[in-house]
Amino acid sequence: MNKEIGELIDISRFYGASRDFVIAGGGNSSFKDDKTLWIKASGEPLSELTEESLVALDREKLRGISSAVYSEDPVEREDQVKNDLHRCIIGPSGNKRPSVETSLHELIRYRFILHLHPALVNGVLCSRNAKALISQLFGDEALFVPYTDPGYTLYKKLETEIEKYRVSYQNDPKMIFLENHGIFAGADSVDEIRSIYGNVMSVIADKLHPLTEIETLPFSPLLHKVLPAIRMLLTDDKAKVIRCRHNSLISKYYVNQQEFHKISLPLIPDIIVYCKTRYLYIEQSSTAERIIESLKTQLPRFKHEFGYLPKIIVIRDLGILAVEDSYKAAETALDVYEDLLMISHYASQCGGIKFLTPEQTDFIDKWEAENYRRKMGHSQGSHNRLENRIAVVTGGAQGFGAGIAEALSALGLNVVIGDLNEEAGKDFVSKLNKKGSTKGAAIFVKTDVSDPASVKELIAKAVGEFGGLDLMISNAGILRAGSLEEIDPEDFNRTTAINYNGYFHCAKYASEVMKIQNQEKPDYFTDIVQINSKSGLRGSNRNYAYSGSKFGGIGLTQSFALELAHYRIKVNAICPGNFYEGPLWSDPQTGLFVQYLRTGKVPGAKSIEDVRKYYEEQVPMKRGCRLEDVVKALLYVIDQEYETGQAIPVTGGQVMIS
Ligand SMILES: [Zn+2]
Repeated sequence: MNKEIGELIDISRFYGASRDFVIAGGGNSSFKDDKTLWIKASGEPLSELTEESLVALDREKLRGISSAVYSEDPVEREDQVKNDLHRCIIGPSGNKRPSVETSLHELIRYRFILHLHPALVNGVLCSRNAKALISQLFGDEALFVPYTDPGYTLYKKLETEIEKYRVSYQNDPKMIFLENHGIFAGADSVDEIRSIYGNVMSVIADKLHPLTEIETLPFSPLLHKVLPAIRMLLTDDKAKVIRCRHNSLISKYYVNQQEFHKISLPLIPDIIVYCKTRYLYIEQSSTAERIIESLKTQLPRFKHEFGYLPKIIVIRDLGILAVEDSYKAAETALDVYEDLLMISHYASQCGGIKFLTPEQTDFIDKWEAENYRRKMGHSQGSHNRLENRIAVVTGGAQGFGAGIAEALSALGLNVVIGDLNEEAGKDFVSKLNKKGSTKGAAIFVKTDVSDPASVKELIAKAVGEFGGLDLMISNAGILRAGSLEEIDPEDFNRTTAINYNGYFHCAKYASEVMKIQNQEKPDYFTDIVQINSKSGLRGSNRNYAYSGSKFGGIGLTQSFALELAHYRIKVNAICPGNFYEGPLWSDPQTGLFVQYLRTGKVPGAKSIEDVRKYYEEQVPMKRGCRLEDVVKALLYVIDQEYETGQAIPVTGGQVMIS
């Protein structure tokens, strides 16, 4: 790697990692020599920049964009420029695309360019006094450019302004301040870039009162009822996730309409991209019912007036909600909207806030709508109904429960793992979240299913983190085998408390949330599924504590199903046969096969293989049950909308229902 590229990567990662400088992976950086410009590809976060995420472009071709003739229609024009930019790429680009801001980097002659949107700087740039303040704070060293529509128009505007600056000062500006947008710093060394940013930040910080401590505030218990309702009111063809945020900065702006007005419109283009142009404010917040009522009156008006449903909802005393198609997108929307709050806070110290005008936001709206349409066109067919649904899996930290959780995560569901084993749970969740292919997110909640308070907390966490609950999988269970002589009452009670009472706790608290959802969206189906056992359908020798608790589970399943059918909550049990391939049976030291061999339980068996054969012979399908067999049954019960209260055997024909 050449030295300058290494320096570019270092500096990009440094600024990219700080929230003071970069929100939602925004900003851009580049290096150029005489012939080539290397720039961060679109969509790659600055904080993770690598040599591979840079695009190399031919500078001479890039300059050609200046004199090319483009369509009068803005959307068509931006498309043509994008294609021209693509033609400037040197060598194979793979999936990498240069961003629309790329040509701006060519305009400035300095070798290194770092473009950022820091809230502190934008506080000045989004104020009524932006131009005067920049001139007062930075004098002739800075070029101020009034707001211009992003893309080609901004490129031409910047070209003219830089040319004028060159005529006046015989040099290129090292700082370019774009009104309602951000800053470009250019220099021939990264050290100088650093010192420019250091200076800009400290000069502005001296002028304003930087927000140093934003205190996190607790979530209101009302959210437990409010979120599932809001989620349903905003779910159209695709399930939504809601993320909430509450802190001391937010609390300043939600107290009344007047304060909310200060954060009611976009200040920079990025906010439109992530949060859209309009946000909903709910002032009624004394009870959950009043919040929901107020929302129900306001939503149709909002949709009628603006043509879409809100992504950002500000609720007095509760905080900000972001409603999105994925956990990550909701989190990004919160970051970007909170950035708007900060910019607004700073701008009000600079002579007042200057929002983008309707014409300015319209341009970005149209552009975004076009991009969205195109993106949807590309991703057709990949949509699955379960994507972005919210599932809780008890006993999901390891073994079979983890297998189910992993399968759900791979299908794009958000998964909440409830388990007693905190260490395994946290490890597993971080493993799930690292898998780049999955859209959903996973969280862990330490849970003892035999304790009702603990299960209540588990469900509350699922609602708090994702906004609702679609699938409750009661999987946690224990097995204490032994004869009547061997098992003492304590063991028996423990088995019952986890396997039987635990299922009751899951159904009790999960159904509360599911009922709220059904009330707001009566055609929405949800599921409670108990992972039962073939021992719940047929007695099991010297295993009555387990078997009895599982038989009980079938009784609960049927009874819950009758009670909850009205709310479109389906309740079913899945009854797998023995997992011969799992550690319970196959562990070479402690597995049941070894134990049965040692104790001579299988007459004539001389090896583990003999014991295994003996058991497999009892299954008509001649093998043990596997995870994928159970996942198929699970997907069936979720998909089926005309069946509830069933116990579905997955036993290879070993147990048949009569
Ligand atoms: Zn920008």
